[in-house]
Amino acid sequence: MTDSNQLNEFELIHPFPCGNFKFALFDFDGTISLIREGWQKIMVPMMIELLLQTPHHEDEPEITLITKKFVAELTGKQTIYQMIRLAEEISKRGGTPLEPLEYKNEYNERLLKRIKNRIDDLEQKRITPETMAVPGSIEFIKQLHAHNIQCFLASGTDEKYVLHEAELLGLPPYFAGIFGAQDDYKNFSKQIVIDGIIKKYSLSGDEFISFGDGYVEIENTKSVSGIAVGVATNEAERLGIDEWKRNRLIAAGADLIIPDFHRTDFLVNYFLNQNH
Ligand SMILES: [Mg+2]
Repeated sequence: MTDSNQLNEFELIHPFPCGNFKFALFDFDGTISLIREGWQKIMVPMMIELLLQTPHHEDEPEITLITKKFVAELTGKQTIYQMIRLAEEISKRGGTPLEPLEYKNEYNERLLKRIKNRIDDLEQKRITPETMAVPGSIEFIKQLHAHNIQCFLASGTDEKYVLHEAELLGLPPYFAGIFGAQDDYKNFSKQIVIDGIIKKYSLSGDEFISFGDGYVEIENTKSVSGIAVGVATNEAERLGIDEWKRNRLIAAGADLIIPDFHRTDFLVNYFLNQNH
């Protein structure tokens, strides 16, 4: 396949200069890791269940739509923000919500049950890390690292889980920093991580690139004039583009949309070579 054919798999939204960046930020879930694939199928039904118990709720199809919408809007931020919103939605319908942290704990418990087999299989080495990763992502990061690009990972998932799951995928040696959500949630955000990197290394916009499947990291990157790559992986099939993600990433300001990293060599060359 020629380079131009390979480029057809990518969708360039806003042309950007390549070859300058020295720092790359990656989102974790959905961008690299598929360990938590399907988390929406745990979070959304849990919330619907709770909202349907409130005194003044809409019918189930309406509640389902509302829930899916606000969960999606908050994807990429720390999980606690989705739970804060859940508590607000419960109050709005005449219910008395618990503390958002309690909802987050309940959600984590339910999700960990769903992904327990995946984690066990990785821990026991019954499956390879690649089986639980977005195609080509691990190799892509290794190659960026080999080219002296400083890679960082920032996730809205609690840091203890991110560290463990990144370890299971064999990623820590390739990252200069791994950041996840803190209990003290007001002092952590992807924007804080990005601003910190830009400031610490006195970067200009095109020296910084980010890869993410959520609109939060795309917006945050564009706010510092960085290059934002939207990874619109179809997580369940591990093949092709998820149209819904694609549209949201473009709306958030993504410069380029890619389905995944399976054309690793081509991608590395594309990003590191100024003359393509
Ligand atoms: Mg993500």
